[in-house]
Amino acid sequence: MPPFSPSATTSPSDAFRLPRTVEPLVYRLEVEPDVGSASFSGTVSIDIVIHEAVTEIVLNAAELAISDVEVRTAEGEVVGCTVTFDDVLEQASFHPPAELPPGPCVLSCRSTGTLNDKLRGFYRSTFTDAEGQSHTIATTQLESVDARRAFPCWDEPDRKAVFDITLIVERNLEAISNSPIADVERSGEKKRVHFSPTMKMSTYLVAFIVGNLETTDTVDVDGVPLRVVFTSGKRGLTDFAMDIGAFSLRFFAEYFDIPYPAEKVDLIAIPDFAAGAMENLGAITFRDTALLVDPVVASRAELERVAEVVSHEMAHMWFGDLVTMGWWEGIWLNEAFATFMAALCVDAFRPAWETWVGFAASREAALDIDGVHATRPIEYPVGLPREAEGMFDLLTYEKGCAVLRMLEQYIGAGVFRSGIRTYLKRHAYGNTVTNDLWDALEEASGSPVRDIMNTFILQGGHPLISLSGQMVHQDPFSFGPVPEGTTSSIGSDWNVPLAVRALGVDDAPRGPTAKFILGADPAELPEVGPGLTVINAGGWGVFRTNYERDHLLALAAHLGELDALERANLMADTWATTRAGRSTLEEFLILASQLGLETDPAAWAPVASALSLTNRIVAEADREALRKTIGALFGPIHGLLGFDAQEGEAARTPTLRAMAISMLGDIGADPGVQAEAATLFDASPTGGGTGAPISADVASAVLAVVTQLMRPGDYELLLKQYREAATPQEEVRTLQALTTFPDVTLAQRTFDLAMTEVRTQNGYFVIAGLLNNRFTGQATWLRLTEQWDEVLARFSKNVHTRLVEPIASLCGDPDFAQGAVAFLREHPIPSGPLRVAQAIERLNVQIAFGERERDRLGGAFRAVLELDR
Ligand SMILES: [Zn+2]
Repeated sequence: MPPFSPSATTSPSDAFRLPRTVEPLVYRLEVEPDVGSASFSGTVSIDIVIHEAVTEIVLNAAELAISDVEVRTAEGEVVGCTVTFDDVLEQASFHPPAELPPGPCVLSCRSTGTLNDKLRGFYRSTFTDAEGQSHTIATTQLESVDARRAFPCWDEPDRKAVFDITLIVERNLEAISNSPIADVERSGEKKRVHFSPTMKMSTYLVAFIVGNLETTDTVDVDGVPLRVVFTSGKRGLTDFAMDIGAFSLRFFAEYFDIPYPAEKVDLIAIPDFAAGAMENLGAITFRDTALLVDPVVASRAELERVAEVVSHEMAHMWFGDLVTMGWWEGIWLNEAFATFMAALCVDAFRPAWETWVGFAASREAALDIDGVHATRPIEYPVGLPREAEGMFDLLTYEKGCAVLRMLEQYIGAGVFRSGIRTYLKRHAYGNTVTNDLWDALEEASGSPVRDIMNTFILQGGHPLISLSGQMVHQDPFSFGPVPEGTTSSIGSDWNVPLAVRALGVDDAPRGPTAKFILGADPAELPEVGPGLTVINAGGWGVFRTNYERDHLLALAAHLGELDALERANLMADTWATTRAGRSTLEEFLILASQLGLETDPAAWAPVASALSLTNRIVAEADREALRKTIGALFGPIHGLLGFDAQEGEAARTPTLRAMAISMLGDIGADPGVQAEAATLFDASPTGGGTGAPISADVASAVLAVVTQLMRPGDYELLLKQYREAATPQEEVRTLQALTTFPDVTLAQRTFDLAMTEVRTQNGYFVIAGLLNNRFTGQATWLRLTEQWDEVLARFSKNVHTRLVEPIASLCGDPDFAQGAVAFLREHPIPSGPLRVAQAIERLNVQIAFGERERDRLGGAFRAVLELDR
């Protein structure tokens, strides 16, 4: 019945896989990094089993010099091997003088390599301590296929083995790996640190970290030692990570009903880190903003980010490390599932944060991409490992998580958990394909899990569910027509888990929620009681809803009676159908004006997006009316919330406070808000004052308002604060503020910083921020294209597409924008052609929005302002 074949048993990867004639069982690795000469050397001796007679042993190695290759047979005979390399497949072949018979052997060799600065493989990260002395850390990032850059190995996720690791390091340095230290031998200036053998696991999870590092005291979490590892001066920023680390360890051991699979957990902050974090078994590495935080001065959103990332990585210890994808197409499930589990865990950790309401923004970001024809299926066949690189995006993490949440809510949380437990227990220490999970969830639920999920996983896009009378039907949702010369990746005919209820207004009771699967054919709604019907009840469906105009207006009149997530989705879906040209901006703004004094930011976020986009395309003659409209929509909520936190307010309210300040003070050019922001800034230490720091919850908004004023000296003050920031969050916040000045000369200065002083792990978002700034976007684009090769060489490949994704914000000048598109066509980005295509299509959707709406904006603003009167 499903239009898709299940994940194939003969995978397209077969041509690229290592032969399975030889199986690795235990790697005994000795590695000696030399940070001074930026190199490392090592030996590896691998217990292998030869399954059928071989004339060569083929494994992975890249950028390594290999020598002294020997095979010792079970009889004790030792034979030397010659080595050949295949640089394209990143393989080494060891050739013995004669055929090796089946049976157990030990393969050994020496290797040397370079400690690189590319944030992958075995690489260097540097930091400066409080005394101004600089230090270098040697650390690993081996996912996806960079273990082969650290040691010769069978670098495929289903070639699991035990790792028995020894690091030879200078005596004064800390050495960390996946397992606890078993013994230390000192000789001269060096020590040999031997770690206890790991569980059977994949090569991409191996970690070694060596450097001048400090650690917290170890805390015993139900028998598992937990600590945080950091560079000097950061001890005061570790308590929160310990809290969420301990909480998530307990949460997952209970949820999965399986004890933590390794012997200890180190949460390690690395000063230079390409991704957010990496789930190395027992030695989880993080960029510092994702781990180190001071809860007293951080915003709720910054704390939530740390909680999410720590929980995400901790979930991987089971889902990913204990049970691992068989090949790289399974990356999506690994990441989507960890994202989903992190949200469950953080929701339990701090219920007041209402994590799933907050997730509305993530869902929106994913559906925004998924509504363009250049989207992709969440899962697609992967041959060469690098074809999976495109999976590390919003569609995997956020849409994948949303789809799992939809399934969980449809079959029930308890049933879902029981299916997950079965799956993990059945496949512990092994490898799986996606269907293994659906099988376990089908057994647990009796629901057609595979038929539902295949339609959401194996095709791109998502449906638009329309209600007319009592009938619902689906169409594929898209923001516009298929771009000329391309084909659409948006699918059709989803099996949609739909939840429906009656809103219950005007004396009618709130109806029960009815759930059913909507297929390709239109269907009549189940009976849910009198009153207004809500489709996507609960708000967990991964689709857009489309109500008839009268129905929408009736819902608008009762927005307050919707659940927070339902309300957020109604706003987001209506904004999406507006951009798709199915409704007008005027209709959307009238809906927005019904939000009144709604205090959850999730419902307001689409309004802020709509007005920000409108600001890019508005004619000068209508700009004043736009400012007044912003005042009409956000003024009352700012009047209620002000600048300061109020006793007893909801945990998410400060996010709306910041949104209102930013909308009114920046695009709205409200003199009162601007003056108060400037006063707060001037009094704060950031602004050179002696008063209280600006509350972190509103700091980014206040800074973004102050920078609009272009006062002499403010740039230097922010730059100084960036350089002297007390926490990683403050560092990022001030760095981002430097990108918001409405001035091309300052933008060039900030661009220079991104190319020199700013760590490469952060520099890309500085350039993206300048590109996104409506005053500096064009100049930044020209600068970026002038220095194209230099920029790409500076930043790691995984962020190249992020540098250009903000081109959608060039929509205000279609001629200029088309020039940018032409440049990107002539300069393809090999690490993410699809993401570039998505960015170009989004740009064109926004240009089309401008063309449709520009001439009628005046009328739309008047309509809102009249309502306000
Ligand atoms: Zn992950």
